[in-house]
Amino acid sequence: MQRLTIARGINISAGRTASRLILSPPVSTLPARMASRDTAARRLAATAQHIRPYSALASTATSFPQTHEQIAQPQDTPWFVDNEFKASKADKWIDLHDPATNNLVTRVPQSTDAELRAAVDSAQKAFPAWRNTSVLARQQIMFKFVGLVRENWDRLAASITLEQGKTFADAKGDVLRGLQVAEAACGAPELLKGEVLEVAKDMETRSYREPLGVTAAICPFNFPAMIPLWCIPIATVTGNTLVLKPSERDPGAAMILAELAQKAGFPSGVINIIHGAHRTVDFLLDAPEIKAISFVGGNKAGEYIFSRGSANGKRVQANLGAKNHAAVLPDCNKNHFLNAVTGAAFGAAGQRCMALSTLVMVGETKEWLPELAERAKALHVNGGFEEGADLGPVISPESEQRIKSLISSAEEEGATILLDGRNFKPEKYPNGNWVGPTIIANVKPHMKCYTEEIFGPVLVCLNVETLDDAIEMINSNEYGNGTAIFTKSGSTAETFRRNIEAGQIGINVPIPVPLPMFSFTGNKKSIAGGGANTFYGRPGINFYTQQKTVTAMWSSADAISQKADVAMPTHS
Ligand code: NAD
Repeated sequence: MQRLTIARGINISAGRTASRLILSPPVSTLPARMASRDTAARRLAATAQHIRPYSALASTATSFPQTHEQIAQPQDTPWFVDNEFKASKADKWIDLHDPATNNLVTRVPQSTDAELRAAVDSAQKAFPAWRNTSVLARQQIMFKFVGLVRENWDRLAASITLEQGKTFADAKGDVLRGLQVAEAACGAPELLKGEVLEVAKDMETRSYREPLGVTAAICPFNFPAMIPLWCIPIATVTGNTLVLKPSERDPGAAMILAELAQKAGFPSGVINIIHGAHRTVDFLLDAPEIKAISFVGGNKAGEYIFSRGSANGKRVQANLGAKNHAAVLPDCNKNHFLNAVTGAAFGAAGQRCMALSTLVMVGETKEWLPELAERAKALHVNGGFEEGADLGPVISPESEQRIKSLISSAEEEGATILLDGRNFKPEKYPNGNWVGPTIIANVKPHMKCYTEEIFGPVLVCLNVETLDDAIEMINSNEYGNGTAIFTKSGSTAETFRRNIEAGQIGINVPIPVPLPMFSFTGNKKSIAGGGANTFYGRPGINFYTQQKTVTAMWSSADAISQKADVAMPTHS
């Protein structure tokens, strides 16, 4: 059993294991040389004898990997065009490794130029018929899609655990939060209704919502099902066609969604999936047929995509990075705060854009941090398929190294490492990308661990004296995705709500992500374009539709006047 250490000599047990049904073929373990902690040595590179070309998706609704066993002969990831999976003719491939073991899972193609063009052409060709399909027919397909996603819920979650690393239970939440967007999209007939008003005698104005044409989605690694499901349902139910690029680090869930969309009855070309990294993104940004881009990911890519896409005349919605703070007031329910923050800071190994990564401890609450460290150290860090795992590995060896170096920088800058997960690894998975829960206390705003998004299981804690100080500190941060306050006072919460700049506020709720009947409303540097275009809800429908207004006059009397009216009407 591995142990994490925290300041003052407290030990943390971590890593329970349990046997589970093995459906993927069991294979020999890694050679001894792979036990090295060196990044390159931890990873098995794809070679001709390891990989087999794509034939059909390896999993089904009832048969899918449920362990981190090495796959004997991993299979290439296909792409999806004209409602068919196809083997890529790529000459560049991106190896995808299980973050818990660094075993090879698949190779993801850098789609060729011909494949990228074929996907856009397919979406363009499908658009005229799809836009003329009645909204009720599109709704029926969406109902079927929702049912199929539910049937394949475990299969989708297993793909996420294998490729992304999060625990199976958490991966089920990833699927559900996307599924809820698809469920809400079933309300399209209501959401797409226009308005009509008689604006003058015999004259009325009507508004219509029309689809844009071909749209594109570019997705991050941390929610392999949820983010594609933020895009697929709303883009398509509104009558657009879609070319989607999943993260090259974990495209498996998106491929399963493509299969389910085809089964649900989406016509050929309405949804296409291509792969790759920057080259693919540039193609989407420059393709003249593409009218709108949905992006979720980090600031570097997102700001570039927003600028280049906008300069090319496209609509762009872009959700970016975050640094989410919680203000902790002495009058709060302490036990609730301890549990809520432990889950919100370390769940998904901190790789959530709404992870609660920063605490602002008001007054005496800083004395509670050792108790928080006790809760955090009780979390089980293990392979995501293991029974009882609370958090899994981080996505890559590079990410592990980056997170650890940010923890070290905090130490060098004078902060206190209250709980240190740097030397943690579970016994069963020595080659994975592990960082145990880490708490850094006495952090100051100039420190690198505060100014950068860490995106790992690391909680940074700052101290202030008053609520006003907490609000000022949170508002001084350039990000504004989400924030939370823990208090029992209604007036304190209301003061916080009125004065805070972050776009999503939790009152005694650590991760206040709105359900799809609302919209995901990040603010400041966490969303490009000043937050004008937000994902899902009515604003999501707005993003994917062009408004058209028609003013018509059907006069009840003959036109008898001989004189034209040249002044603007005054309605007097
Ligand atoms: P990322 O920006 O590295 O990658 C996102 C997508 O952009 C991928 O498909 C990738 O291929 C592409 N990409 C990456 N770099 C690029 C570049 N220079 N040029 C063109 N394309 C590029 O993000 P990630 O690491 O996959 O995801 C984590 C980030 O996403 C975090 O910053 C997190 O906060 C953010 N995120 C935000 C939200 C939100 O709603 N605000 C939700 C999830 C994740």
